[in-house]
Amino acid sequence: MSGDDRVLIDVLAEAATEMPWPEERIEEWLLGWSRRAVPGDVLLQDFATPPPDVSLDLGEQRFLVARRPPGGLPFSELDRRLLNALVTMATASRHAARRDARLRRQALTDELTGLWQQGHFRELLDQTMSSRSDETLAVLFLDIDGMKRLNETLGHLDADVVLQEIGVRLRSDVLPPGSFAARMGGDEFAAVVRHLEDAADLERLVAHLHETLRGPILVGEAVLQVEVSIGEALSLSGTDDPDALLRRAERQMRQRKRARTPAMLPPRWYDDRTVLRDMIDQGRVEVAYQPVVDLGAEEIVGYEALVRARQLEFGPVSPMMLIGAAAQLRMLDELTAVVLDHGLETMGSIAARAGQPLTLGVNIEFEQLHEDSRLLRSLPGRMADLDVHLVLEISERHVTRWTPSQRAIAAELAAGGIGLAVDDFGAGYSALGLLTSWDWEWVKIDRALIADTEGSGGRTVLGNVSRMIGELDQVAVAEGIETAAEAAAARALGITLAQGTYFAPPAPAEAALASVSALGLQMPTGPAPE
Ligand code: C2E
Ligand code: MG
Ligand code: MG
Repeated sequence: MSGDDRVLIDVLAEAATEMPWPEERIEEWLLGWSRRAVPGDVLLQDFATPPPDVSLDLGEQRFLVARRPPGGLPFSELDRRLLNALVTMATASRHAARRDARLRRQALTDELTGLWQQGHFRELLDQTMSSRSDETLAVLFLDIDGMKRLNETLGHLDADVVLQEIGVRLRSDVLPPGSFAARMGGDEFAAVVRHLEDAADLERLVAHLHETLRGPILVGEAVLQVEVSIGEALSLSGTDDPDALLRRAERQMRQRKRARTPAMLPPRWYDDRTVLRDMIDQGRVEVAYQPVVDLGAEEIVGYEALVRARQLEFGPVSPMMLIGAAAQLRMLDELTAVVLDHGLETMGSIAARAGQPLTLGVNIEFEQLHEDSRLLRSLPGRMADLDVHLVLEISERHVTRWTPSQRAIAAELAAGGIGLAVDDFGAGYSALGLLTSWDWEWVKIDRALIADTEGSGGRTVLGNVSRMIGELDQVAVAEGIETAAEAAAARALGITLAQGTYFAPPAPAEAALASVSALGLQMPTGPAPE
């Protein structure tokens, strides 16, 4: 046996003895052994090169490439087989490492929800507490209200859908980066929220989490709303005991759950098709009107119709909930028809009383805008002899792709004198391309940009947005004006149209009509600035 052969056998023996290679060293070891085994240059790169190089595929777009030394002999069959053996060991090691990680994860996660299991959660909590520097964090404890009843009425399989959906929502980005959540068993969940600023920050986060978790859940044919009780424990110092934090959060959750009035105790079957249809038929879907004002002329130019609904047992249902449910049940057009009927009639009366035409804003969901919509296609005919101009508002949040079908119906509406508006612009989701995709009648700037105007940074964003809208020859409406300062900021930026509680909150038709009878279309103003 020659000295060269000994080296080759040593390399193979070493590499094989170390199997499986540790994941983080696979590439380094592969290179080392390959360089010892064959002459010339050996490297790892993300593309293969043609012969006379030897290129071997490692998977995942990585290649081991050996190049002949300049003027040297071509690679022998033995060189090739050696490199192949090393690459096979490398890929086998990687597969083993991945499988181990997967098994470990499976053992640590809850199968139903995909969240961590309680034991691992405690481990992570301990690690987090001992490794953090001066970070403010919080432990949350969550429990679904009325889960027992849910199990009884739905059966376990459907009740599991609720648990699964809560898991999905807890794994979404509702918690800040670095946070983690677990299923503690049954219908109990816990989470660690990282990188908080202060108690107020935590309060906001919990409120948002609460809203997210109580959003409609589709179970079979029905839409269900569940309430989740949440308790929280804020930790400002690394010396807090992790178990004590968890207990504190759980205790607070139980107190909150007890404090609820029985009437509020869910689960709320707040609708299925029949329930929603009954609400519509029995006139429990109503409409509120909020004026849109012209800041220059200081008068009302129109109103936005906002849906309002009551569920007999539970009182008011939020518009977002109602729309979410109607969307799930494919009943959006039925709901919009109610708002349109009511809106056109009310606007007709107000316009008659004011002695001048008015604009009516009605919200629709993006998915309602399509060529085959009987509801939308009937609109131009209906508008013909009304003294009302209709604008359909579509939230920027939901506009995905503006297709030929949407363009066709938009053109048909435009020909019938009906405008379209972008709603909630700047709420954080938009593609700016949206602005140029249609000749919008209004671009309603979301309160998220308006409310920021106290700080000069916010005003710069609002200024840029309103300037951009102007440069595209479109009309901005400032939404959610609550204070004189916000109204002044909008005016200073040259925004002409505005809406918000500072001028008038949404009110029932009778109140809107009475106010026009008393004051005409004069711009209402809220309390004077302090
Ligand atoms: P939107 O179209 O952006 O309506 C404006 C929302 O801001 C309304 O909430 C209104 O009550 C609220 N608002 C008015 N002034 C102020 C203010 O000064 N400050 C703040 N913070 N808020 C103010 P609302 O009525 O809860 O409606 C929420 C959303 O639900 C609407 O947002 C709209 O997207 C949707 N919506 C309402 N009615 C309908 C409808 O008939 N059909 C559809 N598809 N969606 C609707
Ligand atoms: Mg709107
Ligand atoms: Mg809006």
